[in-house]
Amino acid sequence: MPPVRFDESGSKVRLSDIATDPPKDVTKEQAVARFETLNQETFRLQELMWGARLNSVLVVLQGRDAAGKDGAIKHVVGALNPRGVNVVSFGVPTTEEREHDFLWRVHRHAPRRGEFSIFNRSHYEDVLVARVHDLVPKSLWKERYGHINDFEELLAEHGTIVLKFFLHISKKEQEKRLLERERDPSTAWKLNVNDWKERERWDDYTEAYEAAIARCSSSHAPWFVVPADAKWYRNLVIAEVVAEAMRPYKQSWLDKLDSDGAEGRSALAEYRKSLGNRRGNGND
Ligand code: ATP
Repeated sequence: MPPVRFDESGSKVRLSDIATDPPKDVTKEQAVARFETLNQETFRLQELMWGARLNSVLVVLQGRDAAGKDGAIKHVVGALNPRGVNVVSFGVPTTEEREHDFLWRVHRHAPRRGEFSIFNRSHYEDVLVARVHDLVPKSLWKERYGHINDFEELLAEHGTIVLKFFLHISKKEQEKRLLERERDPSTAWKLNVNDWKERERWDDYTEAYEAAIARCSSSHAPWFVVPADAKWYRNLVIAEVVAEAMRPYKQSWLDKLDSDGAEGRSALAEYRKSLGNRRGNGND
């Protein structure tokens, strides 16, 4: 099954109807080969975007604990030229952050034109964890969906390609991964008793994610529900969506580079001409 794309608000979202495992007709071998091809394409697109300075990309990664946000970041970044890439993680807000509106800490990390930013968690936590744990009154978090839509529209108007991914894992797969973290010393740093506590609120998070996706999807900032039980398939889906989203801009970036190049060449020609004149006048 392809990733499920939500690009308009109001449609019903039922996560239990969406697979967490890869479709039967895609093998790991095929996925890895396609992933490599896509990475090469994305790298070239990123170079053009960087040079043209017309657009930027914002990838938002959300998911339950152990859904694979870190792994996804590693693979997205791996395809890119690190120049012009920012990864920003949003944890529990600091006192200063809490004293501002919820978008304050997020907006300052929005990518500049030419850049590629990846958010590990995001402004969506303010309608997820905040809703599940009553961190703010309902009257406040309810209003946030509208604020988020306005914010993402603003980013899109500024040329940002906004892509939001929910890494969709099963409850069973999460348990397996959390237990693995305990066994494997190399991932022991990820151990967090809170992950088990949050797991008890599985259904509440499901409801909160469904509401966020249903209320904050648009053609300029779509949500993708990514089957994420198999890491190789998760990586493929994200790579496919990113390349597909950047591809339509390629010609405009090439045109911009072309016109910038023409300007640069004519400035150089002027400069060389003036050098020639100075030499002719015996100034050198
Ligand atoms: P993993 O998913 O691999 O377990 P993680 O993303 O949970 O890693 P942590 O630094 O352990 O990384 O957790 C970040 C914590 O910050 C999460 O529990 C998240 O809910 C919390 N958080 C993020 N944004 C907010 C927010 N706006 N309000 C309250 N809590 C937040």
